[in-house]
Amino acid sequence: QQQWIFFVTPTYERPTQIADMVRLSQTLSHDPSIYWIVIEDRANCSMRVRWILERSGLHFAHLSVLSPKPQPPPDYTNKTIPPNSISRGVSQRNAALDLITAEKFTGVVYFGDDDNVYDTRLFNELRKTQRVAVFGVAFVGNGKYERCVVDAGGRVVALLSNWAAGRKFSMDMGGFAVHSRVLSLVPEDKVRPLPRFRSSVRKGFLETDFIEQIVDHVGQLEPLMDNCTRFYVWHVQTDVQNMMEKVESDDLYEDISA
Ligand code: UDP
Repeated sequence: QQQWIFFVTPTYERPTQIADMVRLSQTLSHDPSIYWIVIEDRANCSMRVRWILERSGLHFAHLSVLSPKPQPPPDYTNKTIPPNSISRGVSQRNAALDLITAEKFTGVVYFGDDDNVYDTRLFNELRKTQRVAVFGVAFVGNGKYERCVVDAGGRVVALLSNWAAGRKFSMDMGGFAVHSRVLSLVPEDKVRPLPRFRSSVRKGFLETDFIEQIVDHVGQLEPLMDNCTRFYVWHVQTDVQNMMEKVESDDLYEDISA
C-alpha cells in the first residue's frame, strides 16, 4: 500500500457539476491509494454525486456542509454582494480537515477543486510531501501560471504570481499540499488552534492565511515537480454559458445523468 493521498474536493450544484466530477473521478481512479473526500455545498448528500463516488472504485468519504449565507458588511448600501468577495469552499475544506484529524488519517492532504484538470503524475509527486509542498499551477493568478522559484541548493526563494500582491505565500489552492502531521497538535503547539481555512480573510488570501498557520517563510516550503518547472495542474473553468441559456440545469441532470 502506497502512502494515502487525501484528495479534498468541495463541490456544488451547477450545470457543469456532473461533467467536472466525472472527469475528476476518472482521473483519480488511476490511483487506488487516493482517498477522495468530497464535500457537497448543500444541506444533504446528493445521489448523483454518490453514484460518481461509488463508480470511481476509490475509497471515499461523502459529506455535506451548506455554506453560510454571506452577510453584507454593515455599511454596504447596495443590495447585492459582489460574488467575488466571498471565498468559496471554506466550510467544506474545513469539514475534511476535521475528519482527517478526528480519524487520525495519515498521508498527504491535497485540496483538489472539482473543475481543475490534473495530470496523474501529480499523485506520486504529492507523496513526497513532508510538511508543506509547493508547485506550479497553470492558467491562474491573472497570468499563464503561478510557480515557485528555487535556488541552486533546492530551496524555495520566491513565489511568482501576477495577482494579489502582499500575500506572503502567493499560491493557488491547487499549488500546495500538506502532510497530515502538520494538522495535528504536537505538545509544544497545544496553545495554538489547528490550521484551518478562515472565511474572514480577504478574498484571495485564503491560501496564504492557511499556510501562515503552519510555516513562517518560503524557505520552509518543499518544491515538487522538478523544482516547480513542470505543470501537472491546470486551473481551467468549464464554461458552457452560451449553451446553457435555454436549458434548465435540472433538465440536464434528468436526461443525461440519471
Ligand atoms: N464551491 C463550493 N460552493 C460554491 C462555489 C464553489 O463548494 O458556492 C467549490 C467548487 O466546486 C470548487 C471549489 O469550491 O471545488 C472552488 O470553487 P471555484 O472553482 O469556483 O473557485 P475559484 O478557484 O474559481 O476561485
